[in-house]
Amino acid sequence: MKSWDAIIIGGGIIGLSLAISLRKQGLRVLIVERGEPGREASHAAAGMLAGSGLEIPPALRPLAEESARLYPEFVHELEDESGIKVDLRDQGTILISHEGKFPEKAEPLSLSQMQSLEPQLKTASDGRGRPSPHGQIGAAFLNERSVDPRALTAAAIKAAKHSGVDISSGTEVKKVSVEDGRVAAVETDKTSYAAPMVVNCAGAWAGCIGPERFPVKPIKGQMLAVVAGPGLKHIIRSEKVYLVPRSDGRIVIGSTLEDAGYDKRVEADAIEKLFQAATDLVPGLTASRQHEAWAGLRPGTADELPILGETSTAGYFVASGHYRDGILLAPITARVMTETILGKPCAQDLTAFSPSRFKS
Ligand SMILES: Cc1cc2nc3c(=O)[nH]c(=O)nc-3n(C[C@H](O)[C@H](O)[C@H](O)COP(=O)(O)OP(=O)(O)OC[C@H]3O[C@@H](n4cnc5c(N)ncnc54)[C@H](O)[C@@H]3O)c2cc1C
Repeated sequence: MKSWDAIIIGGGIIGLSLAISLRKQGLRVLIVERGEPGREASHAAAGMLAGSGLEIPPALRPLAEESARLYPEFVHELEDESGIKVDLRDQGTILISHEGKFPEKAEPLSLSQMQSLEPQLKTASDGRGRPSPHGQIGAAFLNERSVDPRALTAAAIKAAKHSGVDISSGTEVKKVSVEDGRVAAVETDKTSYAAPMVVNCAGAWAGCIGPERFPVKPIKGQMLAVVAGPGLKHIIRSEKVYLVPRSDGRIVIGSTLEDAGYDKRVEADAIEKLFQAATDLVPGLTASRQHEAWAGLRPGTADELPILGETSTAGYFVASGHYRDGILLAPITARVMTETILGKPCAQDLTAFSPSRFKS
């Protein structure tokens, strides 16, 4: 049986980033991917790097902020090694809130500031010079980046191969074999691959693979992309919808949050509602052309925190459950998991993310 130092189950952005990082430390790494690498949640994401957003649970903020800080270097290395541009944009986010709730780091925007930043936004004054677009009561600016997740995963696949990571595509892991209480191999639908360390990076499917089960469940997200004439410069986020511009003129509009099992069907009425909410904010989009609609499955957990660390089976690790933030969290996940796997001290406190927290 052919063997590696570490086997990674799942070739999404989490598995790919970790594989590259472990390879840099000299490990021989194999990614075993059921389908094509980078075609599940990592293909479906909007790509907001919202490290300081209100949606980030407090326990996750230190990790999220550190990952956002690491992003330019992470992207630079992937672009360099792959020759693929990943459209890292840093024009920032305009937040629009019905409830007037903004993250600490957001700077309030006046009506004229908002109009000059993004003339396409529908605006109305609340009478005191504050923006009130379409009845919303406030706007603020947040210094956040975005990336094109499809380009990012394409770059990560190429960089991984370039650095000597082996990838077995179209190969489903059926079982993780344990000998004398330690991980020994993964059994696939075709063969077995041996390694003393196995990392479960199977996204929304991470809970389906033994020897230990984790409560990861799929949370469906439907999205669409339009091609708009004048386009947008900034990410726009309200409580109802977000709009993420790409440099090629596309605007990605999302997203639903649905507990619908492993169903990835796209529903016309969900897409229509998202489009309607987007045109309420940016009326010029009514003239845009729908380019694509799709759905993906976020790896959700009950406490909305990722699962990061070694399990009670020696040599068996998990890096999954990144829910709405796996694109953002890829660089920090690769770093802390590499440290954990190599037994090095970790600068981040990972207690809240321990795989053992679900055991009663
Ligand atoms: C609509 C939507 C919008 C999003 N927007 C954002 C955003 O703006 N910003 C952000 O940071 N995050 C966002 N996310 C979340 C982000 O996409 C995920 O958290 C992230 O992609 C998870 O990456 P992953 O590698 O864990 O999972 P995946 O990309 O799903 O990869 C898991 C891989 O494991 C493989 N696999 C599963 N089971 C097996 C098996 N038994 N054997 C072998 N391989 C297996 C799968 O085929 C898959 O390729 C969004 C997600 C969705 C759905």
